[in-house]
Amino acid sequence: MQKIVKQLFNYFKGLPDIGNKTAERIVFSLLSSESRDIKKLYDSLHKLIGNKNTCSTCGVISFNDPCDICSDESRENTLMIVESSKEYYKIELSGSYRGKYHVLGGIISPFQKRNFKDLNINNIKSRIENEGISEVIIGISPIPESVITKEMLMNLLKDTGVRITEFARGISTGQYVENIDEVTLTGAIKDRKDAEY
Ligand SMILES: [Zn+2]
Repeated sequence: MQKIVKQLFNYFKGLPDIGNKTAERIVFSLLSSESRDIKKLYDSLHKLIGNKNTCSTCGVISFNDPCDICSDESRENTLMIVESSKEYYKIELSGSYRGKYHVLGGIISPFQKRNFKDLNINNIKSRIENEGISEVIIGISPIPESVITKEMLMNLLKDTGVRITEFARGISTGQYVENIDEVTLTGAIKDRKDAEY
C-alpha cells in the first residue's frame, strides 16, 4: 500500500502547477474514495491508453477523429481559434461557448522560431466554406506576443467575408486564456467584438 501511495504522490507532484500539498490532498482523497468512484476514474484513465489521437479537422488532442465537437451537428456555426488543446478544453469545460473550435498549435512570437505556415491553418478557410461558418472568434490569449498571430489570421481570412471577432475588453491585455477565471471568460466570449488591427 505504501508503495502505491508514494507512486501516486510522485505522479501528481510531477504535474504542472501541482505542489506537494495539492498532491497530498489528491492522494488522500483517492484513499478515502468509494471503490465505485475510483472505478469511474480508472475507466476514464484506461480510455487514455493507446487512444490518444489528434482530430484531423480541428487539431485538438482527442480520442476520436473527428473529435466529439467536430462531429456534433448541433454546434453553432461559429469557429473559435485557440492556441492549444488546453484552451479548447478550458473553454469547453466552462460551458460558455456552443460553437466549434480550431486549434492552432501555438502562436507566432518574436521569442519562438515558428512560422505562420507551421501553425495548423491549412484547412481553416475550407472549414469556413464547408461548414458554413458565419463568424470566426480569435480566441488566442490577448498578450502582446500574440498580436502578430492575430493580424496574420485576420489577413488570411480577409477575403472569406466571414465576421472576425475577438474577446471583449473584460480580459485585460497580458492575460493568458488558461489563467482567466470562468466568469470573466464567459463575459469575454458573450460580449465579443469585431477584431481590430
Ligand atoms: Zn475536432
